[in-house]
Amino acid sequence: WEKYHSPEALTFDKTNIGNQTLAQMCREASRTYGDRPALTTMLPTGAQTTITYAELDALSDQFAGYLREDIGLAAGETVALMSPNCIGFCVASMGIAKAGCINTNVNPLYTAQELEHQLTDGNAKALVIVDLFGDKVDQVVGHTNVKHVVTLSLVDFFPMLKKAFLGFVLKRVRKVVPDISTPHVRMSDALARGRKSIAGKDVAAYAKQVKPSDTALLQYTSGTTGRSKGAELSHSGVLLNAHQGYLMVEDEVKDGAETALIALPLYHITAYVLIFILGMKLGSHAVLAPSPRPPSNLKAAFEKYTITWFTGVNTLFAALLAEPWFDRRMFENLRFCGSGGAAQQTGVALKWQERTGIGINQGYGMTEISGVLTLNPPSDNRFGKVGIPVPGAEIRIVDDDGYEVPLGAPGEVIARSPTLMKGYVNRPDATEEALRDGWLYTGDIGVMDADGFLEIVDRKKDMILVSGFNVSPGEIEDVISTVPGVIQVGVIGIPDDKTGETPVAFVVCVDEGPTEDAILGACREVLTNYKIPRQVRFVDAVPVTLTGKVLRRQLREDYLN
Ligand code: AMP
Repeated sequence: WEKYHSPEALTFDKTNIGNQTLAQMCREASRTYGDRPALTTMLPTGAQTTITYAELDALSDQFAGYLREDIGLAAGETVALMSPNCIGFCVASMGIAKAGCINTNVNPLYTAQELEHQLTDGNAKALVIVDLFGDKVDQVVGHTNVKHVVTLSLVDFFPMLKKAFLGFVLKRVRKVVPDISTPHVRMSDALARGRKSIAGKDVAAYAKQVKPSDTALLQYTSGTTGRSKGAELSHSGVLLNAHQGYLMVEDEVKDGAETALIALPLYHITAYVLIFILGMKLGSHAVLAPSPRPPSNLKAAFEKYTITWFTGVNTLFAALLAEPWFDRRMFENLRFCGSGGAAQQTGVALKWQERTGIGINQGYGMTEISGVLTLNPPSDNRFGKVGIPVPGAEIRIVDDDGYEVPLGAPGEVIARSPTLMKGYVNRPDATEEALRDGWLYTGDIGVMDADGFLEIVDRKKDMILVSGFNVSPGEIEDVISTVPGVIQVGVIGIPDDKTGETPVAFVVCVDEGPTEDAILGACREVLTNYKIPRQVRFVDAVPVTLTGKVLRRQLREDYLN
């Protein structure tokens, strides 16, 4: 505790990284690590391609040039990025930062309606989207302020012949790449145009128009209540959070010597800040897996590369342990394993340690704090606990009136850190509820022990955590309430062996009302897969307050206990 929370540790930003923007950090990494491999797209088939730090720098400069010179975006405008993990994602993301624009990451599996909500709410002016999910473009873009669409492909940056072959396989054999009729530009063409446009220009000048305290990321999250909201995260917040994570593991990781497998999606804050951004700062080689499902998709990466650093969620660790190819030898060089985003089960962590010889360091964090808030120090890794606050962050456990509870008693976790979000865009009400006197009210119930280690024991907020992704019950209720014949609906999460939790809908209907299939069908039309209720239960009443708010705790007590 002392090491991480001495007065020196609390003035943790000796590197002055909090005075930088993402663009500056990317440039510095390229200067330091130049020819070292930076990013590899690793397809499940084993086909892979790699770019170096110098290439990442040059390509992201070109993309910044395209955004600023060719399509005329200005600093501070928002660009949406909807892609699974691949080199194109990282080039686009750093290009957006270098253009001085704001990056809003979109879950690539989002339905058209979910995408439209984010594009409209975040006032996106351009959309970078993976071609595999391009079918949504035609349905959505016309209803938003998006004027420019760039499509990227998982096989971008592969050598020409390989790209043509893989593209052919993807397009002709599996017929998975939909046609897009909305005018759009391919990433490779956007880069070629950008390259021409920046000739003789100072690309660094674009990002100089933004300050470290300006918004870098508009990250959508359900927060404590309601629909998805855009948390405004600053450049300094994101960089400082990566640095806070680094200070916890600095004895385990080495500059320029790590190979990290990124299986968690980069559109989520944990992977973005604590693997991608931290990895870049460290000069790591990031092996990007477009999807960890099924887990056999990761086999080729583990076989081909000496992975030294791996971050997952409980469900992924459990799934990997069940794979027939999972072999201790593949994990021999692992030095650090992190877990965050959802509770890490001790049984899974113990099995993982037994099989790989390395423990899983559980952390706890949230979008609103730009990533990680607490982490187990590798030298004192306690299973079942989420660790101690990262340097520079503070937590308190308080009761419903905001008073600190006695040590060892449960209460709401509130947190303060220089990495806190500025607020939720367009949502002063939700911001006021979440941020009070400079503290973030997390909606999580925790217990602090005498050594300062935190355990998360419950949740005050409505959110349901499915494989580490947060799902707002209100969003599902909104959809079900529109189904003809539904009178009332309440959604809660119930424990699930595979995903941690899963949504279940309790529905009151008119006589001869809709069937379960009809209700689930309506959900499938607008909600992404992990938000679809596992079950619909038809009940006589759903408990609500006088103002009509669903009483979820009571719903649980009435029907589950
Ligand atoms: P997100 O903003 O999507 O990262 O979700 C943040 C929320 O995930 C937190 O407020 C917690 O409710 C939950 N969470 C994150 N890490 C953990 C953990 N290690 N144990 C339990 N819940 C967690």
